[in-house]
Amino acid sequence: MPACFVFIGQGRERPQFTGRVTVSTSLHNHQLFRINVGFMLKESAGYTRDIEFDVPVELYVEEIALHNLTGKLHLNRTPQGVLIQSRLRAERTVNCSRCLDSFDYPIEIEFSELFVPVSQADPESPFVIDDGDFVELTPIVREESILAVPMQALCRDSCKGLCPECGQNFNEGHCNCERETIDPRLAQLRALLDDQSS
Ligand SMILES: [Zn+2]
Ligand SMILES: [Zn+2]
Repeated sequence: MPACFVFIGQGRERPQFTGRVTVSTSLHNHQLFRINVGFMLKESAGYTRDIEFDVPVELYVEEIALHNLTGKLHLNRTPQGVLIQSRLRAERTVNCSRCLDSFDYPIEIEFSELFVPVSQADPESPFVIDDGDFVELTPIVREESILAVPMQALCRDSCKGLCPECGQNFNEGHCNCERETIDPRLAQLRALLDDQSS
């Protein structure tokens, strides 16, 4: 399985970081949002750097499937640490709440968080730079990807849903089930009639 790593300022033996993350092969990726910010810590407050993303293939953030991830992370060195502002866009694969078909829902992944070296951070804070100078953005990217899609997402406003009897997707055609709505008060009468006729 191809892996993608974001090499940023990790020393001479690593490829030169170009400020752009381009991935062209399919991947299950837990490394993409684990970023070494050591090169930022070496700079003084006010230094900024953009990391641009261009990931046209399917990408998993834990169980969340994303396509066409583009945009950038803007890194800003502050006296306390590194402020990371996300301006990422993607399409998230979700299921329609009416017909259950999967479709791509366009989302924006936007956040702004200050990451502080773990030695100086609140012990409760998830926004830390670890001892290896890494920040782990996977949890916040995952959370933003979840929040960006409504609970009752529809594949289209006019989605016709499924037949409750046979499961036929009415967006694709009709079925032969009787589509009658029976008044609950008449249902008992209907049952009696059925009994007599059998
Ligand atoms: Zn639908
Ligand atoms: Zn049906």
